[in-house]
Amino acid sequence: MKSSLVIVYHRQPYEEVVVDGRTEFRENKSPNGIVPSLKSFFGSVDHGSWVAWKEAEDPDNPDFERRVEISDSHGDYTVSRLGLTKEQVTQFYHVTSKEALWPILHSFPQNFNYDAVDWETFREVNRRFAEAACEEAEDDALIWIHDYNLWLCPAMIREIKPNAKIAFFHHTPFPAADVFNILPWREEIVDSLLACDMVGFHIPRYAQNFVGVARALRQVEIESTVAVEDTLSPVGTALSEPEMAEVIAHDGRRILIDAFPVGTNPDLIDRHLTSPEAAERIAKIRREIGEDQTLILSVGRTDYTKGTAELLDAYDRLLDRRPELRGKVKLMVTSVQANQNMTVYRETQEEIDRMVGSIHGRYATLDWGPIMHFSTPIPFDELVCYFRAADICWTTPLRDGLNLVAKEYIASHKGEGGVLVLSEFTGVAAELQHAVPTNPYVSDSLAESIDAALAMDPAEQRTRMAAMYENVCKYDIGHWAEHIFAQFDRVRPLRHGDAPTPAPATAAE
Ligand code: UDP
Repeated sequence: MKSSLVIVYHRQPYEEVVVDGRTEFRENKSPNGIVPSLKSFFGSVDHGSWVAWKEAEDPDNPDFERRVEISDSHGDYTVSRLGLTKEQVTQFYHVTSKEALWPILHSFPQNFNYDAVDWETFREVNRRFAEAACEEAEDDALIWIHDYNLWLCPAMIREIKPNAKIAFFHHTPFPAADVFNILPWREEIVDSLLACDMVGFHIPRYAQNFVGVARALRQVEIESTVAVEDTLSPVGTALSEPEMAEVIAHDGRRILIDAFPVGTNPDLIDRHLTSPEAAERIAKIRREIGEDQTLILSVGRTDYTKGTAELLDAYDRLLDRRPELRGKVKLMVTSVQANQNMTVYRETQEEIDRMVGSIHGRYATLDWGPIMHFSTPIPFDELVCYFRAADICWTTPLRDGLNLVAKEYIASHKGEGGVLVLSEFTGVAAELQHAVPTNPYVSDSLAESIDAALAMDPAEQRTRMAAMYENVCKYDIGHWAEHIFAQFDRVRPLRHGDAPTPAPATAAE
C-alpha cells in the first residue's frame, strides 16, 4: 500500500528488543524525543511510511527484513529499512555527517575534517534513502525529510517523483554563508534544498542564514517576507531576527521557508512528576544531595558544541573566587557519550573526565564533594525528577540547534521557582527571554550569569519561571505539529503558482 505521508529520518521509530531470540518492536522508552511527535503525524493520514537505516552485516541476505509493518498507539504504518554495512555507516554517519557537516553547521570550521570524507558513499546512501522514500510514496505524497545527513535526498526525490510535495526540517543550526560555504559540496546541497517545496528550521535566524547561502550561490528571489513575532525572537538577543523571507523563488519554482521551534511535552512531564514514585525520588535526591545544598544541574550529550568544558572551567573559577560557596553548592553534570568510536567525542569525554577529576581533587573535603558526573543516560522519567530537584539549570552550549533540556527544566518547575542560565547561542534562547542569558565564549559572562543565578531571590525566580512556563506550554509539541500541518497545507497552492495563503494562525497568535 502506497503512503500519502512518508517520513524520512535516519533513526528507526521504535526500539528493537530481542526476547527469547525473537525481535520485538517496542515504542521508544523515552517518549520525550522527536520520534513520537513525528509518529503522531501518521494519525492524520490514511497510511504512512517511515524510512530509516539499520546496520546489517549483509544487507543482501534474504533474512534481512527490508520492510516491517508496525501497529502502535500512533496507528499502522510501514517502516522501510535500508540495510547499511558497518563501513557505510562509518562513512555516511560518523565521518561525513559528524566530522565534516556537523562542525560547519555548528560554526566550528576548525573541526571540519575534509580528508576523511568519501562523498560518493554519502551520495549513494542518500540516493538509497530517496529511492526507498519514492517506493513508499503515492505520486503526490508529502515526503518529509529530516536533518542534514539527508541533504541530498530532495533533488533525488524530485527527479523520480516530480509531483511529490517535499518538505525538509533541520534539527540543527544553519550557519551564515561565510561558514557554510566552506563545504566544497555547497552547490549540490543547496540545489537539493531548493528542490523542496518547504524548508524548515527551528528559528528565523537559521532560516535567514539559509536564504543568504542560497542567494550567494544561486539566482533566488525573495517573493515575500514576514515580521517575526516577538515571543519567538525578541530583539536584543544574539540570535534575534526581526523578519524573515517566507517565500523564495528559484528556477520557476517557489519554496516556503519556515521557522518554528520544536516544543516539549509539558503534560507528559507533569504526569511523570505527579506520580507517587516521583515525589519519593525527588525527596531522595534532595536528601542525598543535602537539603542545604544548592543543586546546579547541567544535562547534555558529550559534544564539543555543548560547552561542557567551558561550564566546568567556570565552575572551577566560581569555587576559586568565592570560597564561601564551598560546602554549599553541588554541580551535577551529565554528559552522555553517543558515539564512543569517534575520536573527537572520545577526546571531549576525556577532557570532561579530566576537568571533573581536577575540580574534585582541588575542592573536595571529607564530608563534601563539589561535583557529580554521569556519563550514561538517565531515563527520562528519572531525569525530570533531577530537573525538579535542581535549583539551577546551567545550559552553556557554544552552539545548539534548539536545546530541549531548557524547556524540560522549565516544564518540570511549573513556574514555581528555579533558575535557568541559558547560552545565547542555543535556538531556544530566541524564545526564552526570561532566562539568565550567558555568553559561553566569555569567562566573565559565565561568571556573572552564575553569580546572578545564585543570588536570585525566590520572587524573581517565580516571575521569570512562570513567564517561561507559559511560553513552553503554549508552544508545546502539539502546537508545533499544528503549525507544521498548517504549513503543509500552504505548500500545494504555492506549487500551482497561486499567491501564498496567509500564514497559519498558529504562527501569528
Ligand atoms: N536526555 C535523557 N537522558 C539523559 C540526557 C538527556 O533523556 O541522561 C534527553 C533530554 O531530556 C532531551 C534530549 O535527551 O530530551 C536531549 O535533547 P536536546 O535538544 O537538549 O539536545 P540534543 O542531544 O538533541 O542536542
